[in-house]
Amino acid sequence: MVKTEKRICLIEASDISRAAALIRAGELVAFPTETVYGLGANALDAEAVAKTYIAKGRPAESPLIVHVDSIDMARGLVREWPAKAELLARRFWPGPLTLVLPKQRHVPDLVTAGLDTVGIRMPANDIALALIREAGVPIAAPSANRFTELSPTTAEHVRESMGDGVAMVLDGGRTTVGIESTVLSLAGPDALLLRPGMLTKSEIEEVIGAVDVARALGTGAHPSPGMHQRHYSPRTQLVLVDDGQLPSAGRGAYLWITNSADAACMIQMPGQPRAYAAVLYEKLHQADAQGWDWIAVEKPPLAPEWAGIHDRLQRAAAK
Ligand code: AMP
Ligand code: MG
Repeated sequence: MVKTEKRICLIEASDISRAAALIRAGELVAFPTETVYGLGANALDAEAVAKTYIAKGRPAESPLIVHVDSIDMARGLVREWPAKAELLARRFWPGPLTLVLPKQRHVPDLVTAGLDTVGIRMPANDIALALIREAGVPIAAPSANRFTELSPTTAEHVRESMGDGVAMVLDGGRTTVGIESTVLSLAGPDALLLRPGMLTKSEIEEVIGAVDVARALGTGAHPSPGMHQRHYSPRTQLVLVDDGQLPSAGRGAYLWITNSADAACMIQMPGQPRAYAAVLYEKLHQADAQGWDWIAVEKPPLAPEWAGIHDRLQRAAAK
């Protein structure tokens, strides 16, 4: 489990109380999770949720993830809580796994983009959990950045992207996992992986058996709203490259693991997937701010532990 004791010290208990009061009053609070920073609103208050779409400049066609502080709170949002959900929640919550299940009527359509299902997870971050507990309501939160921009992994990223669009930003330091959660649907007859993340398909299969992979992952049609091909993108054009083959025109930054080359800005990335994911968005934010003609990224290894990273890089590279 992630140690968060040190990070919660950056925040006073009174900050959590103030943030929880804002959530209850229908305002937006940005908060850290172990994946990326979220832009939180009371999930049961449609007007509050509507503010997240406005602040992000995001079309209301993407479902939001509802953050809970307990399995009980999750069960209160769904019509069915199958045995597989119980097994996975007990094994991986709090953690970067979102479960999609048939929703109860009181979960606003705006949270689920009109779907009959709701995506739920318990974040592994003490500030997030304290906020939900003190607010006493589930918190719907997209990533705390403007639509299509890079997800924020520091409070600074949130402030740069959102400006005054948010009532309060809880600063929990840099997020530890660094990319968005694995999303698994348990709403159909078979478990279906909708979005890969750092919690891998095989880790899930060890607990519940076979998992199908949504066919549209990476390219093509969307099995659920919100799986936009272009998403998680820097403003600078991003290209995925093999063997250090950089774009021939212009100057750029190169995020490399093993194949070095001679780009104007060389950023060496960790060779282990967890360490890589933890710093990926921060490095992309840095390179993006430097105004290069392109950002080139060496294609990471194809091993399954890299699936979530490949998914985000492919979306970031999509035109
Ligand atoms: P983000 O806020 O960027 O982490 O995105 C949340 C993502 O979770 C969505 O884009 C969907 O891929 C997924 N998701 C959330 N709720 C649902 C749902 N009810 N059905 C299918 N996918 C969902
Ligand atoms: Mg996002």
